[in-house]
Amino acid sequence: MKQLTNPCTRCGKERILLKQWDEVIPTFGNSTTMVTRSTNICPDPECQKVVDAELAVQRKKRDKIKSDREEKLQQVADKKQADKDKLLEDEE
Ligand SMILES: [Zn+2]
Repeated sequence: MKQLTNPCTRCGKERILLKQWDEVIPTFGNSTTMVTRSTNICPDPECQKVVDAELAVQRKKRDKIKSDREEKLQQVADKKQADKDKLLEDEE
C-alpha cells in the first residue's frame, strides 16, 4: 500500500516528520480521547521558512478575527447589562 503523501504546499516536495506526539483531548461525557499529532516540515529549510512566515501571517489574521469577535460579544454583553440596569432604575 502506498503511504499517504503530505507534500509541501509551496514546492510539492514530500514533507518530513519533525515531531510526533500523543495528545489527550477531552470529549463529551467526561471522557478523553487520544490522538496522535505530528508536525511535518518541508525538507528545504528555505522553503519551510517561507511557509512558516505565511502560517504566522494567517495565524495573526485568525487571532485578529477572534479578538474582534470577542470584543463584539463583550460589547453586546455590556449593552445587555446596561439595558438591564436601566430597566431596574426605571422600576424604582
Ligand atoms: Zn517546500
